Amino acid sequence: MAPFDAAPSGRPAPLIDPFGRRLDYLRVSVTDRCDLRCRYCMAERQVFLPKAEVLSLEELDRLSSAFIGLGVRRLRLTGGEPLLRRGFMGLVESLSRHLRSGALDELLLTTNGTRLAEHAADLARLGVRRVNVSFDSLDPATFARITRGGDLARVLDGIEAAQAAGLEVKVNTVALKADNAGEIPAMIQWAHDRGLGFTLIETMPMGEVEADRTDQFLPLSQVRDELASFWTLTPLEDRTPGPARYVRVEETGGKLGFITPLTHNFCEACNRVRLTCTGALFMCLGQEDSADLRAPMRDHPGDDGPLISAIHEAIARKPKGHDFHIARDAAPAVSRVMAMTGG
Ligand code: SAM
Ligand code: SF4
Repeated sequence: MAPFDAAPSGRPAPLIDPFGRRLDYLRVSVTDRCDLRCRYCMAERQVFLPKAEVLSLEELDRLSSAFIGLGVRRLRLTGGEPLLRRGFMGLVESLSRHLRSGALDELLLTTNGTRLAEHAADLARLGVRRVNVSFDSLDPATFARITRGGDLARVLDGIEAAQAAGLEVKVNTVALKADNAGEIPAMIQWAHDRGLGFTLIETMPMGEVEADRTDQFLPLSQVRDELASFWTLTPLEDRTPGPARYVRVEETGGKLGFITPLTHNFCEACNRVRLTCTGALFMCLGQEDSADLRAPMRDHPGDDGPLISAIHEAIARKPKGHDFHIARDAAPAVSRVMAMTGG
């Protein structure tokens, strides 16, 4: 395919994969480092990438902008912990030009919230409207155990600051059989009382992390049945393409999402690809195949043509779906941890 195929409207031809899925959503992991060590995500002594391997913020901007030029309308910055990366707000500021030009509909952030209080006002000023904040317990001791030492108060301060700045906040919580199963209804109630969205995620078998995920795996079908025994869950039809199924909890008035890669395969509506901080493009969260975008970018400093060709070639290899399953003693479905691709 020619690199700059233009649609009749003058807009770039959208990225369409071999299964006819339109790719208009890019997730960019800006760092693999994190200030927490969630047990299901990372090893206690996680080995991080040498700094020399990590793309500069200018390079992340160039790659992101190439995707926006190819029709990506939503860009999510994630990590590791994105707010930990030095100069991160400069990247947000630079990318916000695409919001002002109308090329991008949304610039989004997924964060653990520990540094959100410092940055919430600037994020809002730069045009970020929605942030996802991940945490898995409202009990400080449980939170500290899951994260191996995190301070819940900082996350809650971050959420408060984000709301005060006018950001829409959604809480992401991984359902963990041993650590938070009994707490899930209270967490949903807490979030909905504050006008926050709430999404539950099944643990996915990614990377060696010491813990045995089968001990913690909690099928969301089971959680949903339990919630439905005392709440009225009304399915919402207007769901955006993506892995979450949403319901309204009539008693709380809030929105509840379920991300169920293990109990319900969601690949048919997949609209996204994921870029790591080393410039590897993963076409599927649950597969090993990736395409190197760093070389075509670095080898041609003033010319995006080879980079755009490499993106098209990668999209042509996007697989139909993932093969996640959880089995005791089985190797993870993919060897990299989630922090490489940012969820
Ligand atoms: N540090 C940020 C955060 O925690 O939101 C952004 C990166 S984190 C990798 C993104 C999301 O992935 C979080 O909601 C986290 O709970 C989730 N996650 C990490 N490892 C996971 C796993 N093995 N299975 C399911 N979700 C996972
Ligand atoms: Fe860090 Fe997010 Fe992974 Fe937790 S889930 S260790 S906060 S990257």
